[in-house]
Amino acid sequence: MQTSPVRLFLKITRAAMFMVLVSAWAGLLTSLAVFVLSAVALAKEPAKKGQQTQIIINKIPAKKLFGLVKNGAPMRPAIYGGYTRGCYAGGVALPPNGEAWQAMRLHRNRNWGHPVMIEYIKRLAIEAKKAGEWNGLLVGDLAQPRGGPMLTGHRSHQLGIDADIWLREMPEPRFTLKQQFGNQISAISVIGSRKELGYDKYEVDPKVWRDAHYKLIKRAASYRNVARIFLHPAIKKKLCEMAPKNDRAWLRKIRPWWGHHYHMHVRLNCPPGNPGCKNQAPVAAGDGCGKPVEAWLKVMRKRAAPRKVIAKPKTKRKKRKWRPRPPVTLAGLPGPCRKILMSGDGAEQIAKKYPFAKPTKAVAKPVKLRGSLAVSAQRKAQLARLAPPSADQNAKEKQAAPQSRRGKMKIKRPRNARKVKKMQRRAAKAKTKKLAVKQQPVQQNKRTIKTAPKPDLFDQVFN
Ligand SMILES: [Zn+2]
Repeated sequence: MQTSPVRLFLKITRAAMFMVLVSAWAGLLTSLAVFVLSAVALAKEPAKKGQQTQIIINKIPAKKLFGLVKNGAPMRPAIYGGYTRGCYAGGVALPPNGEAWQAMRLHRNRNWGHPVMIEYIKRLAIEAKKAGEWNGLLVGDLAQPRGGPMLTGHRSHQLGIDADIWLREMPEPRFTLKQQFGNQISAISVIGSRKELGYDKYEVDPKVWRDAHYKLIKRAASYRNVARIFLHPAIKKKLCEMAPKNDRAWLRKIRPWWGHHYHMHVRLNCPPGNPGCKNQAPVAAGDGCGKPVEAWLKVMRKRAAPRKVIAKPKTKRKKRKWRPRPPVTLAGLPGPCRKILMSGDGAEQIAKKYPFAKPTKAVAKPVKLRGSLAVSAQRKAQLARLAPPSADQNAKEKQAAPQSRRGKMKIKRPRNARKVKKMQRRAAKAKTKKLAVKQQPVQQNKRTIKTAPKPDLFDQVFN
């Protein structure tokens, strides 16, 4: 068979056109793929370093951060927040050994305080010794170098103006530095053991209690900048009995509290010139002797009495899961606490433990609530998360939860929709729970509320 040249020409042109079309399509497809891939890559690009760091730091419990920093913030002394939620700058260490004192449990590194507290301890120690009342103070926990919440122990002691002073005299010869560091030396209780006295009795132990205790506590309360001294009610009762009629004004500052028969907890007023420092409500009038003390002791006896065992009815009841309160983060502390924590070499000390959270300049800046117009979109979102929920928003959420539950029972929906609804409900529930926790008074403890004789008798302390 022979093909004409015209036919051949047509065949070749057709083939060529086909090739061109195919290559055009391939080119279009590859360029499209490149575009999509690059768009995905752009979307996945990590947030800026500063923002990331801020997010990480905000998630670490504040007690872990404040517990890491070993020295005071090199700034002008200043206090921010309340006794159970705050921090301070310009912290000073109480020297382990002084003219008339020894700091104990040095391994905790809690012999730091605001300069007014360090001054107070020195003055009390020296003046009590000079008067021949007390050989020397044994000082327990003051605060961490920059205050803030602690990993163990106290809930207060966050502002550098709380101090635990042992009700045990400094011995002669003194404790060695090794003894001061460890836990082997302990304070001595001035209350008789419950085994000896019986469970329902709380009294000062005559074998331990001396007039010197009375004199030291009275002197400690006599300084003007002392707000309160927390002591066991049995000790307050003893002081009330010992104080003469014409010298009882100082007794008002002695506040009964749980524990505190090994040490007294001295709390100073916010020093003047500290608008960020929140004082407690002033102590009620009167010396606080008599009825209030008896009411306290009654509560304590009731609590200590062996409980009657009541046979529980056999019913299947779901055990409530105990969930700890979420720990306080930097966002839960006053704004300047972030700057105080990071100042000097604080940031470097934290970066040793959390290298991924190496702070940048953006971290050191406290979040400013003013000038919201200038705040970037991301900052705004962050602030919205930090801000407390408004009342009506709260109510809306509370309403929404049960309604969605009812709705689910009646209307049949495809599986997927159900799943989504379930997840939404869970989220709403968790949110309302969180809000309920937030709304509880922060400084109160459920147990004490239940058994408190009268609310005004109780100080919010948590030693
Ligand atoms: Zn204390």
